[in-house]
Amino acid sequence: MIKYNLKCENKHEFESWFSESTEFDRLKNKNLIECIFCSSKKVDKSIMAPNVTSSKINNNQKQISNLKMKNIKKDLLKLRKFVEKNFEYVEQNFADKVREVYYDKNNKKNIYGQTTKEEKEELKEEGIDLVNIPWVNKDN
Ligand SMILES: [Zn+2]
Repeated sequence: MIKYNLKCENKHEFESWFSESTEFDRLKNKNLIECIFCSSKKVDKSIMAPNVTSSKINNNQKQISNLKMKNIKKDLLKLRKFVEKNFEYVEQNFADKVREVYYDKNNKKNIYGQTTKEEKEELKEEGIDLVNIPWVNKDN
């Protein structure tokens, strides 16, 4: 995809996306391009301003997303600690244990463990909705 700034005879400016650079000319020859404001078909590519700031902006965006990633990881680690402290880890037959806890009204145990996708679907059909927790490694 390629984006062009377009300008009509009445100096309306707008942006449009094309699948490739030659498509603008192809569509224009067929009179298929018109101004989105006045429907004039006299539309041309306008000269684009040199984009000197783009690399700077990209760098900032990278830094921001790195920062976000770190914060998310911190939160996930907190969540992991909370779960480990308050939940009992079930290493095997987690799906069965979940049923046990679910159907035993006196059992208020919080448990966590791993299920396969199929097990999760089965449990869901029984009305047991599990919460997925993204598990982050403590190191790294
Ligand atoms: Zn126009």
